[in-house]
Amino acid sequence: MRIVLVLANLPRLCLESAEKEPNKELGAVKLKFNDLRQFNDNLLIETDLCIVGSGPAGLSIAKEFVGTNVQVWIVESGGLEEEPDTQALYNIESIGVPRVMQQEIIRSRIFGGSSHVWTGRCAPFDPLDFQSRPWIPNSGWPIDREQLDPYLERAGINLGLGPHCYDQRLWELFKVSRPEPLLDENLLKPAFWQFSKSAKDPAEPTRFGHHFMPEHAPNINVLLHANVTHLNTNETGTCLESIEVSTLEHKRGSIKAKAIILCCGGIENARLLLASNRILPNGVGNPHDTVGRFLMDHPGCVIGGFDPQRSTKVRSRFGQYWLDNQQGRHVYLQGVALSPTIQAQEGLLNCAAFLEEYSAPDDPWTALRRLKTALKKQPPHSSPTVDQAMFWRQPTASATSGLPPSPYRDVLAVLSHPQIPLQGLYRRFVKHRPALPKAERIDLYCLVEQLPDPSSRITLSETKDALGMPISKINWQMSDREMQTVRRLSQVMGQEFKRLGLPQPILANWLNDKENWQSNFIDRAHPIGTTRISENPQQGVVNSNCQVHGVEGLFIAGSSVFPTTGHANPTLMIVAMSIRLADWLKINCFHQQGGAA
Ligand SMILES: Cc1cc2nc3c(=O)[nH]c(=O)nc-3n(C[C@H](O)[C@H](O)[C@H](O)COP(=O)(O)OP(=O)(O)OC[C@H]3O[C@@H](n4cnc5c(N)ncnc54)[C@H](O)[C@@H]3O)c2cc1C
Repeated sequence: MRIVLVLANLPRLCLESAEKEPNKELGAVKLKFNDLRQFNDNLLIETDLCIVGSGPAGLSIAKEFVGTNVQVWIVESGGLEEEPDTQALYNIESIGVPRVMQQEIIRSRIFGGSSHVWTGRCAPFDPLDFQSRPWIPNSGWPIDREQLDPYLERAGINLGLGPHCYDQRLWELFKVSRPEPLLDENLLKPAFWQFSKSAKDPAEPTRFGHHFMPEHAPNINVLLHANVTHLNTNETGTCLESIEVSTLEHKRGSIKAKAIILCCGGIENARLLLASNRILPNGVGNPHDTVGRFLMDHPGCVIGGFDPQRSTKVRSRFGQYWLDNQQGRHVYLQGVALSPTIQAQEGLLNCAAFLEEYSAPDDPWTALRRLKTALKKQPPHSSPTVDQAMFWRQPTASATSGLPPSPYRDVLAVLSHPQIPLQGLYRRFVKHRPALPKAERIDLYCLVEQLPDPSSRITLSETKDALGMPISKINWQMSDREMQTVRRLSQVMGQEFKRLGLPQPILANWLNDKENWQSNFIDRAHPIGTTRISENPQQGVVNSNCQVHGVEGLFIAGSSVFPTTGHANPTLMIVAMSIRLADWLKINCFHQQGGAA
């Protein structure tokens, strides 16, 4: 039986003609969940807007259309829970600088995408990141930071962030005095991040998915277990006509829409364009061989550390700060970044460093937290993937002696270090700062921008996945400029900390290694640049409105459109750019049918 869902029809009514009940409502969420596995073969959906992928990019766009007359279908490869067979579709072949992070942990193929495992650290790109910098070939965005600011503010609301403010105005908002002496801003500038806070559980970052969408969203439909396997264009590749979907059991369907947005993440967006090569051998949107090129990440490395016994001053200055407002408490972190002046003078990339603290196994605060959890009988994280990945969010809370948890040991930890909780209470209630746990290790962690390099790229592997699609062959490259930048940051930090009377960082020996430095960096699950924005179709994949150059009806959202990486984690920018695209579509594609809510 062939089911045709035409946008004028009530989709749910049509769905009821499917063999089994396909709709599933989750708690208070009134999204219409459908499962491709429960339809007959050759389902055809016709709608206004189709969003492929339900991570932060996809759901941010969908949310903007709630309450409009635009019928939206979100097409998602995964289901509502982790499934190993679906995760396996993310396998890659790595032939460049090793992708160290385990792929099955760092990308979640599930409703909500990788927000299930993200840490929630947020910061916008700096104004300089948007500029065309003569010392960085292929740099420059067609928009500037000021134009993006209103979207960054809206993105911050979606992510449960505090005010959209990342400069010295924060000191007043923190209600603490600005630390002195000041950094020499020709060398270093303070860098601030804040942490996303879920509306449901403030201890967690916003997890897109179940709780992100508004309760009443009658025009939004979700199709689960629907893997997009091919983008079908007309013969000349100038117009997207439909997309093909398949379950792992090879039940197929296709979707037609006025606008289709790929929101599959920084690797999959490129893979999907490249693998859609039945009509055009180079794939879709790829007449100039630009798709998949310029792959970047935020290479991360430990550049040194501090002696935990002599680090209170530096932990105090560069640790966490609180900002309390009507939405509750927001947590910010201060670190340092290379100043725009030194980047321009010395031809460097953007780069920031922050403290990463690891609590001692007998830290009284960790012990108290464990005791509180045990008393409340709170269940542990339900997902092993989240457990493995969450070490990035709370390194201080992950301290373990390797022994099973014991309430006796925890009580002993609290009683044997009474000064630590007392000092913590003083910091909390007098200084308005979080307590300092007993640290076992304090690392100085660094994230560096990458040089946009066309030879760092994703192509298609000979190996195929369970759906017959070639997996991604990833040739990730790093340049000497990244190392030069990190080395310079560490030197400048040493110099500045001495001048400020702060403890000196104990710098890592590998920083002097001219040959084998690459193995000290890891990829940070931030794939960027593979479908980059460019004004000129020969230099990128999407135009400044995120439409694929020369392909009517096809758009891309996510970090793959960023032409440069800055040093900041990407999700705040992803959400801001997605909201910007939604606004553009409302005016330019759906205005006639009342696209605006
Ligand atoms: C451990 C970890 C910690 C992180 N911490 C941070 C952090 O602190 N701050 C930060 O800014 N970022 C962080 N990130 C990165 C962050 O998770 C991503 O930037 C963000 O999830 C990207 O959103 P997205 O919507 O573009 O893609 P994703 O979240 O990857 O979502 C893509 C969606 O598309 C679906 N999909 C893929 N292919 C197909 C297909 N062919 N058909 C149908 N559906 C498909 C997937 O199932 C998925 O739901 C972290 C990532 C990890 C892994």
